[in-house]
Amino acid sequence: MTQTHSIVVDKIQMSKIGQTDFDTLVFGKSFTDHMLECTWRDGNWGDVHIKPYGPMQVEPSSKVFHYGQAIFEGMKAFKDVDGNAHLFRPQDNWKRFNSSAKRLAMPEVPEEIFMDGLKELVRLDKEWIQQGDGLSLYLRPFMIASENGVAAAPSTEYKFMVIMSPAKAYYKGDVRVIIASKFSRAADGGVGYAKAAGNYAASFYPNNLAMEEGYQQIIWTDAASHEFLEEAGTMNIFVRIGDTLLTAPNNDRILNGVTRRSIMQLAADHNIKVEERRVSIKEMNQAAQDGSLKEIFGTGTAAVIVPIKGYKHEDFKHELPDVQDSYATMLKKALVDIHYNRVEDKHNWLVRL
Ligand SMILES: *Cc1c(COP(=O)(O)O)cnc(C)c1O
Repeated sequence: MTQTHSIVVDKIQMSKIGQTDFDTLVFGKSFTDHMLECTWRDGNWGDVHIKPYGPMQVEPSSKVFHYGQAIFEGMKAFKDVDGNAHLFRPQDNWKRFNSSAKRLAMPEVPEEIFMDGLKELVRLDKEWIQQGDGLSLYLRPFMIASENGVAAAPSTEYKFMVIMSPAKAYYKGDVRVIIASKFSRAADGGVGYAKAAGNYAASFYPNNLAMEEGYQQIIWTDAASHEFLEEAGTMNIFVRIGDTLLTAPNNDRILNGVTRRSIMQLAADHNIKVEERRVSIKEMNQAAQDGSLKEIFGTGTAAVIVPIKGYKHEDFKHELPDVQDSYATMLKKALVDIHYNRVEDKHNWLVRL
């Protein structure tokens, strides 16, 4: 049975866009005028409410605070030179959201609610998508268990919400990383492939330890042996050895990144050889020593591509060389050109708003 959900819009009196300084944006700190909220109760989704962004009232017994049933997505909207706004591969985020929901015993969000709600919300706050290289609107759909009560069982009520934050390209300086040889982000049979809030909570402590040693991120390895590369902090990982790009295959410990998939496709379009296979630290260290390790980079929606300048693995330290024909630079440009509709969108990744 298909159900139609009406979208109820309550507009703000006056936009706060005038008080927002787009030149000094800090990632994820300012939010647009409106947000979306839709409640699931006892098996059914209610109407989609779009209303002014602001605080919400919740009881302290709300299940999300106790058992961490919380998932999210991260996606972006871009404006091209003609002022047309596009979402980038939103269908992929919707599907992943529901695969995360399923793993956390949460209800799936119907496509109609996710897509139509999102589009309506972005259209309403379209002015917040700034035009210009590196500028975008970061969309944060999320879902939380909102039933009151501390009995350890799945919630009988959930809130699907979307908030949006104007973003500019961020450059956080050189990134050096520690390769994990003790801590793990995810385990076999666990929730590593889901965008579960708790995955982030679990990574903050080891990441703080890395920062105390002067490194910005951790390269996660497989929990069982710590011998194979899995993710670069909160991004997927690519390693270039010789002229081949290597990336870890998806499994239940690895987040199936939309940026990763896009970069693999663009690399193939540029006749770069991509191998999706396990990459051992031993192989990477050997390549570092014989000079064939040319690049390591992370991919994700927020920063697109982040080149890694150096790494440490136990007692082994290595600085990456400056390469002339950087794949990271070339592939980032190829992807960003699609974001801003500057080149033909061969793979139909943009969705016009
Ligand atoms: C979100 C995320 C990524 C990147 O996914 P994209 O779809 O490319 O944004 C990679 N790893 C982790 C752990 C993530 O949470």
